[in-house]
Amino acid sequence: MTEKIIILKKRFGLVGDNFNKEKILKNLPGNYAIGHNRYSTTGSTTLRNVQPFFADTNAGGIGVAHNGNLTNAITLRKKLVEDGAIFYSTSDTETIVQLIAKSKRKKTIDKIVDALFQIQGGYALVMLTQKILIGVRDPFGIRPLVIGKLKNSYIFASETCALDIIGATFLREVENGEIVYVENNSLKSIKPFPLKKPRPCVFEYIYFSRPDSILNGKCVYEYRKDFGKELARESDVDADLIVPVPDSGNAAAIGYSQHVKKYFDLGLIRNHYVGRTFIEPVQKIRSLGVKLKLNANKSTIKNKKIVLIDDSLVRGTTCHKIVKMLYDSGAKEVHVRIASPEIKFPDFYGIDTPTKKELLAANKSNDEICKYINAKSLKFLSVDGMYRAMGFKKRNNTYPQLTDHYFTGDYPIKLIDNLGDDKVTQLSLLSTASNN
Ligand code: AMP
Repeated sequence: MTEKIIILKKRFGLVGDNFNKEKILKNLPGNYAIGHNRYSTTGSTTLRNVQPFFADTNAGGIGVAHNGNLTNAITLRKKLVEDGAIFYSTSDTETIVQLIAKSKRKKTIDKIVDALFQIQGGYALVMLTQKILIGVRDPFGIRPLVIGKLKNSYIFASETCALDIIGATFLREVENGEIVYVENNSLKSIKPFPLKKPRPCVFEYIYFSRPDSILNGKCVYEYRKDFGKELARESDVDADLIVPVPDSGNAAAIGYSQHVKKYFDLGLIRNHYVGRTFIEPVQKIRSLGVKLKLNANKSTIKNKKIVLIDDSLVRGTTCHKIVKMLYDSGAKEVHVRIASPEIKFPDFYGIDTPTKKELLAANKSNDEICKYINAKSLKFLSVDGMYRAMGFKKRNNTYPQLTDHYFTGDYPIKLIDNLGDDKVTQLSLLSTASNN
């Protein structure tokens, strides 16, 4: 039998723009594979930081792809470097690979467990060796990971919509703190961590996951419609039209309009040829991005009192531009309604939110934000309303069911690598560390 080899290809940009030709795919022969597309952050974007990461260990080769963010990567990295490790990237994912390679355990799966006991933060990992395919979810299950099946093959993916695309069946979510691996075509599971209650990230429900994916047994689209309904219950206002910010506000606006029984209409038209505004790292490009992405639909909004609905407000860039666009195009009144609570605290677990300084709601009152975005009125969904919409109950005055620090400041995992509020994003954190 010939020895199996692992082939590694790293490219910038979208998967479909890179792995799109028969010739390229022919150069990737084999029975199984992992892949990952990581969000751009403010840190250095170099090919070295592109995933998956690969290392040759004394138990064989291993490739690792990581969705999330570690909260102790710098601390671990410093120690590894002191012990003689050489890093070639500034990504926290490489820390995981180094820990696996350094483990004294014999079997790969034991090496992985060894490494996982040392890392902290939000992570969903997929790994590949010459013999096994592995999926891991952090002890709180902050980042999502699901298992599917296509004929006799198992598939791991962040979201169930990926399974739909290839015609695979959704089996179940990987549980919090679970390591699932496929060996000799059978699925095995271990739970090595002390048991914790799951606390998946609420932002997957609000914004990140695709609306056609399933989270916790329910379609994301339905959750978002329910956020919209609850928002309407809490803060309806006299208006002629309910207008979504496409596409992020679509489901919530439909839910809102169904509840208040007012017209839903497209007051903004989206140009589908430009990417999401948020991921442009420079503010100037981000501002231009909104104009490139959306245009007012003058015929629907002229002389109308509008309720404008979006899923979330982060820096306020999008909202500020859109409200102006609507008024410039003849809207009579623009009332902004946001289908999630005020984001007051930055994230450390893999959602690319900015630092506290840039988070509008962390620094301004409701009236000040309303003035900044130039709206007639502004209301956010309350934290209680958000949980009510999801059917969760308050216990001991908190909601322990989800990771919701964005709104509450309740971080389930401490940030060990605390370099101050301005240095919380993963790649910039690590490039700061490696520059020192
Ligand atoms: P902002 O313009 O900074 O207030 O961002 C708000 C817009 O960005 C909303 O339309 C959201 O749908 C979207 N958004 C919120 N959080 C994120 C994120 N982490 N990554 C990308 N887009 C986001």
